[in-house]
Amino acid sequence: MGAEEDTVMLALRKRLERWKQRAWEAECTIFGREDAAVSGSHTGLTVQNQSENDARIRNLVSAIGDAAWHEFYLIGQDFTPSAKTIGVEYDAVYSEVEEDSFSVDGKEYIITRIRVRRNWDDRTCTHQWSQWEWEENDCLKNGRAVYVCGRCQKEKIERLPALGHLDENGDQICDRCGSVDWSESEMPEKVIWKEGDVQLREVGGEILSFTCIDDDYHDWQNEHRKAALFLCDRVIRADVDTAPGKKMNIFSFGKDNNYKTSQVRAWLQKNSQNSSFCLEPIHTGIQTAYMGSTAAGAFSQTSGRELARQDIGFQLMNDQLFCLSLEEALAYREYLWRFDSGDDNPQSQVSAYSQGYYLRTPFYLQDENGKFIYNQQIYGVDLVNGCLRPVRTDSETYGVRPAFALSQM
Ligand SMILES: [Zn+2]
Ligand SMILES: [Zn+2]
Repeated sequence: MGAEEDTVMLALRKRLERWKQRAWEAECTIFGREDAAVSGSHTGLTVQNQSENDARIRNLVSAIGDAAWHEFYLIGQDFTPSAKTIGVEYDAVYSEVEEDSFSVDGKEYIITRIRVRRNWDDRTCTHQWSQWEWEENDCLKNGRAVYVCGRCQKEKIERLPALGHLDENGDQICDRCGSVDWSESEMPEKVIWKEGDVQLREVGGEILSFTCIDDDYHDWQNEHRKAALFLCDRVIRADVDTAPGKKMNIFSFGKDNNYKTSQVRAWLQKNSQNSSFCLEPIHTGIQTAYMGSTAAGAFSQTSGRELARQDIGFQLMNDQLFCLSLEEALAYREYLWRFDSGDDNPQSQVSAYSQGYYLRTPFYLQDENGKFIYNQQIYGVDLVNGCLRPVRTDSETYGVRPAFALSQM
């Protein structure tokens, strides 16, 4: 091999390295990695057959979580890359352009650039909310926040109630706004919550929307206090704590069917610390247990007549974010299989880790003296079979659909 040929071969090798670098950078952008400059792991950038080609496409397209255009490269080695599988497996628009082709070290390389934009349907979208607009509330004035889903572009408007002046140290100066000697007539603007109102809260690292399903809610201990009940618009899956590409981390209800000491309750408490603003403490103590299941397939027509109720005594417990009781589930049956929609659409939530969601009411079981004992059966809303039934407390296939209450002032 002559010196001239050597130079040509060296240039071609460099050309391949440049394409690999560009493919690597595009991939880092899609995955949100910051180390795009480090050209360490170049393995897996070239594809030699259809199955490697399709695996690389799936890996990249499934990592796209928004509705913007993205681009990436396929480097075929003795193989012509193709983007067809995007159209077959995804709801997406795409284009492909052959950018370059050359031979080096006895192999032929074909470089294809793919541009892709995913479509998200607002009825099936697992929304990813971010704040778009913000009018701050203060002591006297209400505010509002507009959230937009980055995937399907759906919009939610949240009202932010005026906070009222606050003077904890009694110095006649408002601790919040610095106002001096405000008069009693200076009352904060009122917010009356109505059914259908929306609130967004961060739970488990994600912003979730909640819809008001009862504007006249009270817990059984405080029948005179008026509050509004908000129910989450989706089911938090049991694998919520599993980081992408990491070992599975799955929650179950707990070691038995006592909600007070359950893993689910501890998880809700731990994951709602920065979203507890304005939430009313609600008495969530369990006084009753049940036996039986409601008829499969009835969904929101569930009557509850099949269930037998037993009193199990008093329990003291308060929560701001909680699972519904079986009594509440029956009272709000029309909302149990409905998610961000006017109709029953449980299929929008079903996955291996959310076949249903837990309630906080235990199944009734007694010992030989006729006394209630905690056991391994907790009631849940079955999304697949459309009924209320006991499920095992160590089930890893049920998720959580939290609720909270806001004060009606
Ligand atoms: Zn969406
Ligand atoms: Zn103030």
